[in-house]
Amino acid sequence: MAQTSLDHLRQEEEDLLLRTYGRYPIAVARGKGTRLWDYAGREYVDLLSGIAVIALGHCHPEVTEAIARQAGRLVHVSNLFYQQEQLVLARALLDTAHFGKVFFCNSGAEANEAAIKLARRYQQRVRMRDAYEIITFEGAFHGRTLATVAATGQARFSDGFSPLPEGFRQVPWGDLEALEAAVSEKTAGILLEIVQGEGGIRPATPAFAAGVADICARRGVLFLVDEVQCGLGRTGKWWAFQHFGLAPDILSTAKALAGGLPMGAVMSTDEAAAGFAAGSHASTFGGGALVSAAAAKVLEIIARDRLPERAAELGAWAMDRFRASGRACPGCIREVRGLGLMIGIELAVPGKEVWSALLEKGFILNLTQDTILRLLPPLTIEKADLEAFAQALEEVLTRHRQSKGH
Ligand SMILES: *Cc1c(COP(=O)(O)O)cnc(C)c1O
Repeated sequence: MAQTSLDHLRQEEEDLLLRTYGRYPIAVARGKGTRLWDYAGREYVDLLSGIAVIALGHCHPEVTEAIARQAGRLVHVSNLFYQQEQLVLARALLDTAHFGKVFFCNSGAEANEAAIKLARRYQQRVRMRDAYEIITFEGAFHGRTLATVAATGQARFSDGFSPLPEGFRQVPWGDLEALEAAVSEKTAGILLEIVQGEGGIRPATPAFAAGVADICARRGVLFLVDEVQCGLGRTGKWWAFQHFGLAPDILSTAKALAGGLPMGAVMSTDEAAAGFAAGSHASTFGGGALVSAAAAKVLEIIARDRLPERAAELGAWAMDRFRASGRACPGCIREVRGLGLMIGIELAVPGKEVWSALLEKGFILNLTQDTILRLLPPLTIEKADLEAFAQALEEVLTRHRQSKGH
């Protein structure tokens, strides 16, 4: 039996890896653009892009070239040295929004950790307030470190890990009254995922997002946004908060930043940035030459190819199209929602069966919260691929309905 068969790999994993992941029944051999292939040569349409990471498609030739070139020149020297690659990237990133400073790290959770530390230290050392609490929202996902698990506030991510760090408090999504009541002299900041991803693709309404910003401004607490998943053009603007004309104090991002290499970043206003002094925070790998060169190329391509605009147009079209799929099978789809190419299809039928049938038809996507199909395709996805997916979805739903004798 080939060393690449699913059974073989499953057995190897069982022997070798700590048990943390539930895998999809595919071993991926290679990728190109919006397509993936398994070892048997079967082709899949990738509507997930490594969970919003591969925004330019797999192995984009210009990103591959930038990585190869930088790998031959300098990969890592540590943050003890000046590195031009990091500064080129910092300038490009800061050009996308109103922020004044950036810090580089290696993942989304680390970006959120840095954001939380910055908010606390700003309140305690600049504003001289004894404030440390970060308020988050139900349904959020902020990462898997102890502090970000505490910020996430969902039992299934914190089970067995107590005691969690103190200083996190959660209020219902969309509830401005509860938020207002939760803010106290202990509050350092409010952390909002503008479009909840893992929580089921829930975009904040304009009134909710503006209300959060208003409470932050009135009550003297920092406004933090987690754009680890929704950032970098996916929702139709560089940053999802820009749909609402807001100006948060601190932003965390990661997933799509370095074209598949691990990288996170925190952007801050000049005011909030005063919270850190030399030695306050650090990361050995953060902003290394290789990842920085890759990320600079990714940003260049997103801007040059106008991918945020593309995501806005294609995403709006796709959501209408998927709603039409719902009308073809009354009672099958509860809601289609999202922003740009961050799309959730909430099913009224068992999600696992539909997800499996779509995978069987060659479409890779994610199922979250048991009933929500989550689509995070490359921003370069073709309309024809989304049309083919809509037709496959209709077939699967109609077949499911017939099998249930409706
Ligand atoms: C994925 C994600 C994180 C965590 O990122 P990691 O790189 O896995 O640590 C944090 N916040 C949001 C919104 C995410 O989608």
